[in-house]
Amino acid sequence: MRRKLAAGNWKMNGTLTSVTEVMTLCATHKDPGVDLLICPPATMIRTLGTATTDHAMHIGGQDCHAQASGAHTGDIAARMLADAGATHVILGHSERRADHGETSADVHAKALAAHDANLTAVICIGETLAQREAGETLDVVTAQLHDSTPDSATSDTTVIAYEPVWAIGTGKVPTLEQIGEVHAALRIALTSRFGQDGDAFRILYGGSVKGSNAAEIFAVPDVDGALVGGASLKAEDFSPIITALENA
Ligand code: PEP
Repeated sequence: MRRKLAAGNWKMNGTLTSVTEVMTLCATHKDPGVDLLICPPATMIRTLGTATTDHAMHIGGQDCHAQASGAHTGDIAARMLADAGATHVILGHSERRADHGETSADVHAKALAAHDANLTAVICIGETLAQREAGETLDVVTAQLHDSTPDSATSDTTVIAYEPVWAIGTGKVPTLEQIGEVHAALRIALTSRFGQDGDAFRILYGGSVKGSNAAEIFAVPDVDGALVGGASLKAEDFSPIITALENA
C-alpha cells in the first residue's frame, strides 16, 4: 500500500563529476519497484533534474527558507528549489537542527513553505544519544513529529524520516527492536492525528544504512525505506540498498 522510498542525502558533497553516479543508478534501476530520490547540494539540482528527465529519479533540496522571498542572504526559497527542478526537500535534518539552531517550529514553517511550492517535505526527527540513554526517545520523537508536521500535511505531501542523531555518519545502528519500537510509535501518532491517511505516510529510517544492513532494516514493520547519507554518494554503494528495498 505504501510505495517505498530510497532517498540519498548528499549533504555538502557533489560537483559536476558526480552526475555520472546518478546516471549509473538510473541505468541500473531503469524501472525501479520503489521511489528514488537524490538530494544533492542546491548547485546541482538543475543539472541533475535535467539529466534525469527520462528516468524514474526524483531530485530534492536539503533545506528551504520559510519565507517565499526577501532579504535572507544565502538562503533558498522552496519555490526556487521547485523552479530548479526539485520535487522534494529534506527539512529539519539533525545537522541543520544542530548547526543552525533549527527548532521544530522552524521546520513546521518550512514544511508549509515547501507544500506551498508543491514540494514533498521529508521531515527528519530523531533523538540524541543522551536522550536515548535517559529513556526519552519515544517522547522526543513524537514531540518532534507533532511540532514539525503541519496539520495540513498529507501522505502525498510529507514523508517522515526517523534518524537517531547518534547513528548518523557513525556506523552505529540501533537494534532492529529499537527501530521497530520507534516506527510503531510514529505510526500510532500519525494515525491518531491524521486518521486513515496516517497509515499512508511513509516513515523512512536513516542512520548508517549500508548494503550490508539494509535488508534486515527494511524487514522491520513500518520501515518504508531509508534516508541515506554517506552510502548514497557512490552508485556502487547506493545500488545494493535500492535493490534490498525493492526485494523487501
Ligand atoms: C543522513 O545524513 O541523513 C544520514 C542518514 O547519514 P548516514 O547514512 O551517513 O548515516
